[in-house]
Amino acid sequence: MTRTCERHDAVYYGCLNVYEGELLLKVIESWRCRRCGSIRVGVRWFDEISSTEGLHDFLSPEDGRWLVLVTKSPHPDARPFVGRPGSVIEHAGVEYVVGEDYTVRRADEGGLPTSVAFFRLDEVIKGYIDLSTWPPTKLSLKTTQG
Ligand SMILES: [Zn+2]
Repeated sequence: MTRTCERHDAVYYGCLNVYEGELLLKVIESWRCRRCGSIRVGVRWFDEISSTEGLHDFLSPEDGRWLVLVTKSPHPDARPFVGRPGSVIEHAGVEYVVGEDYTVRRADEGGLPTSVAFFRLDEVIKGYIDLSTWPPTKLSLKTTQG
């Protein structure tokens, strides 16, 4: 059973900026509940979007992790999804499976993805991903000492 708060006490956790070169494509923001550790994410991009568009529900750490699927074609994009060990995500006709350690491999032959890339959001949340190179460049920024 999932332990969850009646009302989450969420504080800002950080954001991931997704670039293609100098172009900022998307910002994935996140908030973390101080009581239960659940994480909510919100995706922002540069179009006419409402204040709630792109906002996802809280995810308890017992229910999985936020992962980010990054694609270069047909167009550069990044989107968060919930990964659980054994869960499958499909993109462009290829199925990928989430491992126990949340690394993602091809479901058919177990190889690492080549046409897409996956990141654990908690590992990149205070940093950026640049899609002008492939595989994408990942940089994590520290905001606190130690
Ligand atoms: Zn909570």
